[in-house]
Amino acid sequence: MQKTPVKILGAGLCGSLLSIILARRGYPVVIYEARSDPRDLSQAAGRSINLAMSSRGIKALKYAGIFDQVEPLLMPMTGRMLHFQNGTQELQPYGQKEDEVIYSVSRFNLNQILIDTAEKKYQVEIKFEHKVLSYDTNEDKILMQSPAGEYSLDAEAIIVANGAGSVIRKAFNDIEPIKPKESILPHSYKELTIPANADGSFQLQEDALHIWPRGQFMLIALPNPAGDFTLTLFMPTNGENSFSELVSDKKVNEFFNHFFASAVPLLPNLNDEFKKNPTGILGTVRCQHWHDADKLLLMGDAAHALVPFHAQGMNFAFDDCVELDKVIENNEGDWLKIFQNFEKNQYKNAQAIQEMALDNYIEMRDGVLDPKYALRKELSFELEQRMPNRFIPRYSMVMFHDQIPYAVSYQRGEIQKKLLEELTKNADKLEEIDFNQAEKLVASRLTPL
Ligand SMILES: Cc1cc2nc3c(=O)[nH]c(=O)nc-3n(C[C@H](O)[C@H](O)[C@H](O)COP(=O)(O)OP(=O)(O)OC[C@H]3O[C@@H](n4cnc5c(N)ncnc54)[C@H](O)[C@@H]3O)c2cc1C
Repeated sequence: MQKTPVKILGAGLCGSLLSIILARRGYPVVIYEARSDPRDLSQAAGRSINLAMSSRGIKALKYAGIFDQVEPLLMPMTGRMLHFQNGTQELQPYGQKEDEVIYSVSRFNLNQILIDTAEKKYQVEIKFEHKVLSYDTNEDKILMQSPAGEYSLDAEAIIVANGAGSVIRKAFNDIEPIKPKESILPHSYKELTIPANADGSFQLQEDALHIWPRGQFMLIALPNPAGDFTLTLFMPTNGENSFSELVSDKKVNEFFNHFFASAVPLLPNLNDEFKKNPTGILGTVRCQHWHDADKLLLMGDAAHALVPFHAQGMNFAFDDCVELDKVIENNEGDWLKIFQNFEKNQYKNAQAIQEMALDNYIEMRDGVLDPKYALRKELSFELEQRMPNRFIPRYSMVMFHDQIPYAVSYQRGEIQKKLLEELTKNADKLEEIDFNQAEKLVASRLTPL
């Protein structure tokens, strides 16, 4: 029997992957996307913006049978290369096993592959330049705009994957059952570029995520296959050392020369890019519910946007796609049950990763400068080696152990954080730690995984 077509709003990372997964399950799928077809643009037309992908994202791409096409785009990053203000550098590995790496991937190329595969291999119909204008929560009507004019869609089992600024979600501001709250971070970001050398080689070590941590603000850089790095400045929006102060070339140059002297020689286009590239806002979206009966379900950033500091927004959006497919499998045809079970299974995980992402900003820009930081990291690796089924560093649980839900990583991470603080309180070196006591504490506070 022919299944009822599924309508998805948004052909971003979540919507395009979901369309493939649902088409593989036998659903005819139609996507409505505001932008024009990205395959008509060359990457050169836009900036080269990349994302870090980790095991949850990879698992979802494998689930959708598309990993082989994406794999050639992935650039491994084995650890954080810290660039201190005195010019010294230190590489801190992300994990301790060979496969414990994360990958830099071009957002543009990844989205292109997903869209192309959805359309060509799975006959997903993608209506580009079809934009959601508004949503009438009383009439359950979605007002759309296309090149041919305005029209409306009925809200019947619609999947809303139109990103952090979702018009549909905003229509529920103060309205049950979704009642979203947006918490805007008082920090913003700007993307810049470290170009490749003339021979195409990298100006920095290519298999690392580079960080220039400076307390209240930081620069980070992720490699691209063409030899360049996408560099992002994260800093307060207002106040001392903030975007509001960097209003002229002179101010930008003074600021970079003072705080990021080691990065300045790598940035020949700093002033042009600083002026030309937009300053982006960052925030967390928390909703009371993600669905309105069986009318619509929010997924990905539309449901639970998070700050980017744990590099999990896309990874979690991909995980959403797998989770939705699993609940469909057990409740085929019953969209209310599907939406309810999806929310039940993912909600606590969203809350957990949103908190961990906020925490990680402080760790990346400031925590890594704490003299005890390196010792705690060393100790957490040592405890993982001694008791691998009880103690796994929180970062590793989130990035490399996709079978451990975020909610569990968060809860165990809180216990582990206290343990590490206690054990390193009177120690400056690993040899000064009493491992008999440490192992007893771990065994008493953490259940086996
Ligand atoms: C600076 C930064 C760095 C990040 N780094 C990482 C990282 O390293 N790793 C990671 O996992 N995540 C990262 N993220 C998060 C990641 O980008 C998002 O979580 C991810 O893109 C969410 O996918 P999505 O499909 O839900 O939303 P999006 O990818 O934003 O897609 C939404 C789609 O909906 C379309 N749309 C919007 N409005 C309408 C409308 N009115 N009508 C129709 N269509 C519409 C958009 O054009 C778009 O195609 C980062 C985010 C930022 C801001």
